[in-house]
Amino acid sequence: MVKYNEETNELDWFSGESSYISSPLPFFVWHITDRCPWRCPYCFARKSGKDFPAKYIEKIVRLSKKMGVLKVDLSGGEPLLNYDLFDIVNGLESQGIKTTLTTTGYSTLDKLKRLSEIKSKFARIIISLDSSNEKQQDALRGDGYWKTIRTLLDVLGGTSSYNLRVNTVVSNRFIESNQWRSLLKMIEGIAPKEWCLLQPLYFRRVCSMKGYQVADDKFDRFVKQVSGCRGKVKIISRPRLVYGPYWVLDQDLFFRQKTVENSYESGFSIFSSPAVGRAVVLNSSHRF
Ligand code: SF4
Repeated sequence: MVKYNEETNELDWFSGESSYISSPLPFFVWHITDRCPWRCPYCFARKSGKDFPAKYIEKIVRLSKKMGVLKVDLSGGEPLLNYDLFDIVNGLESQGIKTTLTTTGYSTLDKLKRLSEIKSKFARIIISLDSSNEKQQDALRGDGYWKTIRTLLDVLGGTSSYNLRVNTVVSNRFIESNQWRSLLKMIEGIAPKEWCLLQPLYFRRVCSMKGYQVADDKFDRFVKQVSGCRGKVKIISRPRLVYGPYWVLDQDLFFRQKTVENSYESGFSIFSSPAVGRAVVLNSSHRF
């Protein structure tokens, strides 16, 4: 039994209360596009250059409802590059499904303004920052990344009117550079709802990850150290073993779950019946 928790934006499990429902797939990540201009070294997007086919969006929204989905993370690629983003958001909202948006803000000013108009619809808008220094940030993800994020934040306006999360990929280089205090100070100035420390995930072997991978115990120690500083921002973390096996819907119309150790993917097509999908998810190794 499961329920969406508004405050944490997470799923609460198991209770006898009537507000909890039975759902084999309460949450998935929807890669609505593979297009992205950045070159983050730990990226595991397929970068096929394709958007999720527009003609299947309605089907996914209906299927999500049938499968008991409570929350969808819209991701990519850069989701703002998908022409149908606003239809997707409205469709999921019409079914009572919560959405989050992970974005770098790479878009036209008009689209950013449109996003700002509906920002309160999202359970979270999630951005990524890895440095308080523009040059270092751009060296990591691509020239212009810093300015793109700053423009997004300017257009979205004060964080009291929407729920912002800042993600930071805690790579080995990031830990060794010992720059987390200056980044924390900057993030406190942005005042998001939370700062999420993310362990890099080595997947699909699109990059070597040399210098970026972090051992599980080293990541845990770092999270403890940062969490102990009692700053003004709520700190949360996502170890790879937690978010690695999330169910993902890709542009080729397959729901997939990956195992973090060997990159093996399993899943089902959206053309399977909801019953088949439920059976596959229930037989999978991971329970969110
Ligand atoms: S912004 Fe995301 S999709 Fe784009 S390169 Fe970076 S990690 Fe990959």
